[in-house]
Amino acid sequence: MSGQFIVTITPPTPNGDLHIGHIAGPFLSADVFTRTQRLKGARCYLVSYSDDYQSYLKRKALESGINEVTLAKVNSAKIQESLRMTDIHIDHWLESYENRHFEDAVQMLYEFGLEHNLIELKTSLVPYCEHCQIWGYEAFARGGCNHCGNSSDPSQCEFCAMAPDSPEMTDLRCTLCNQSLVYKSVERMFLKLPMVAQALRTHLEKAPMRTQLRTWLNDAFERGLTDWGITRPGESGLKLYKNEAHRVHTWFMGQAGYFAALKELSEQSASPQDAYELLFDPTTHVVNFLGMDCSYSHVLAYPAQVLLDQRFKFKNVFYTNAFLKLDGIDFSTSRSHAIWVRDLVSDACVDSVRFYVSLVTPEEQSENFSVEAFWAWRKHIFGELLPQIVSAISVPDVSRKMPHPLMLSEHETDLIRQWQKGAQHDDFSMKSIASVLMQLLEIIEVQLNAGEQPRNCIVLFALLSEPTMPRLSQALQQQLGFDERTAFNALLGLRQVSKDE
Ligand SMILES: [Zn+2]
Ligand SMILES: [Zn+2]
Repeated sequence: MSGQFIVTITPPTPNGDLHIGHIAGPFLSADVFTRTQRLKGARCYLVSYSDDYQSYLKRKALESGINEVTLAKVNSAKIQESLRMTDIHIDHWLESYENRHFEDAVQMLYEFGLEHNLIELKTSLVPYCEHCQIWGYEAFARGGCNHCGNSSDPSQCEFCAMAPDSPEMTDLRCTLCNQSLVYKSVERMFLKLPMVAQALRTHLEKAPMRTQLRTWLNDAFERGLTDWGITRPGESGLKLYKNEAHRVHTWFMGQAGYFAALKELSEQSASPQDAYELLFDPTTHVVNFLGMDCSYSHVLAYPAQVLLDQRFKFKNVFYTNAFLKLDGIDFSTSRSHAIWVRDLVSDACVDSVRFYVSLVTPEEQSENFSVEAFWAWRKHIFGELLPQIVSAISVPDVSRKMPHPLMLSEHETDLIRQWQKGAQHDDFSMKSIASVLMQLLEIIEVQLNAGEQPRNCIVLFALLSEPTMPRLSQALQQQLGFDERTAFNALLGLRQVSKDE
């Protein structure tokens, strides 16, 4: 099946480099999704950007004594380097700070909201630390979430993914001095989600998403949507006009960031096909990859921003992930409980990291990355089995006559069906795809050890591993005969991939 897809990855905060938890979240999935759809003949653009207006960046700048702009530039470069090292290929990466396209896109969505009374000024109570003289909208405050009771900042709860109501939170304290916060009346802008709740619900019923997100969404609608504060006077964000009441915070701006990345890509591209124009085409799917904790903005606010705008005709698809643990404990960069992507890729190899992370990716629930298990698995698969496979096919079988139709065993046919199911654009699973590859390796190992030549399974592994392990797949495919590759690609409905793609 072909089609056209705009694929997005939630923008990372440029306050540090990427660790394995990031990769196991939206990053690798979005890359494997994009490679898979392209292999099936679709047109795709994968975009993301550096979240330069994040409240946590401001905090990091205060704590480190390095200014926000420098921090963002340095870390955005590190993040891009880590992505390159992991073969995560993003078609366009935008740096949002003082970016013309970014500001235009935010302003367009904001003004559309103002014109249609979807955005309006209200007075609300905002937490403030009198000791530090700082506002507690997000990074500078922490307390008990009023929805689930877990420790959260007042912006988006990592546990229940709801936007807490700060005056309702318990024991809210300043993250710099740990003192209790006071509340001050502030005039700020709100997105009136209840105004479009029914239309939004109808719209989202048609949008493919995983069970965990569907359950969360139904629950959010059952409880009833509330107005969402979208500006943060005196804190982080993009100030659209002279008045601080219009300092738009970063969670409102995510979709604008994706639009802006497409616009910048279109402007820089020599190709006559315009990536940005796809937003106005009803056959386009915008496929968001995000952590569950970003659901409120991506699944409620962003569709609401464009719901009443007749120009935007794209369809939504959402792929959420839960959190990955490291040796049973949450990743924590402050406690140095993390593995940096660049270190692991350098010590192991990029394909082994991509394959293993695909196997343990937390698609529906939290999963664990065990360092010891990874190295033991890698020793077996990459140290022993794959060299055996490479030597088994190192002499191209030029005499091999490809029958029409190809003769495949029931088990082989079933594995192809499983791979195709995982590769669907509306029910995609990087984990299922990786599981099929492991099953193929298990069959190959048994047959090789029995002195047989599991040629079909090796060819299937070489072709179907392309999105998960592009380098290994390319190396294996070069050993295959042309007729063989052509016959199997035709059977699988895949197109040939050349090395430089
Ligand atoms: Zn919560
Ligand atoms: Zn304080």
